[in-house]
Amino acid sequence: MHPDKQYMHRALQLARLGQGKVSPNPMVGCVIVKDGVIIGEGWHQKYGEAHAEKNAIDSISDKNLLKGSIVYVNLEPCSHYGKTPPCSDLLITHQVGCVVVSNKDPNPLVDGGGIKKLREAGIEVIVGVLQEEGELLNKDFFYQMNKKRIEV
Ligand SMILES: [Zn+2]
Repeated sequence: MHPDKQYMHRALQLARLGQGKVSPNPMVGCVIVKDGVIIGEGWHQKYGEAHAEKNAIDSISDKNLLKGSIVYVNLEPCSHYGKTPPCSDLLITHQVGCVVVSNKDPNPLVDGGGIKKLREAGIEVIVGVLQEEGELLNKDFFYQMNKKRIEV
């Protein structure tokens, strides 16, 4: 298996730990890799609380390691102020080198905004790694969001 897929597989495993606790938010997991080693992990644990990216960053004591790291997260980092500040801003602040995501966030408030913001800051963004697995994990969330878009 390609390393990108291995790390994303791990992120999806972590995401699943939030099952039943994060709805109506999607389940999201995050793995941070530096020089081929996992240096941080996190997941969205509870609705209204910190997102996966924030928890993964908080799990790393030496924040300097984040510079140039690769962040694997199954859903596009958020770009809007919700209950927590935007994760894309957090990743930009820590100067990560690359962000790999499975799915774009279908939430009309995000919808590519997180990816755009990261790219504009010079961070490489790869979309679509384990896309189907990601969609399957959050199929209820994607269904609800798509329905909303049709209604709007
Ligand atoms: Zn977020």
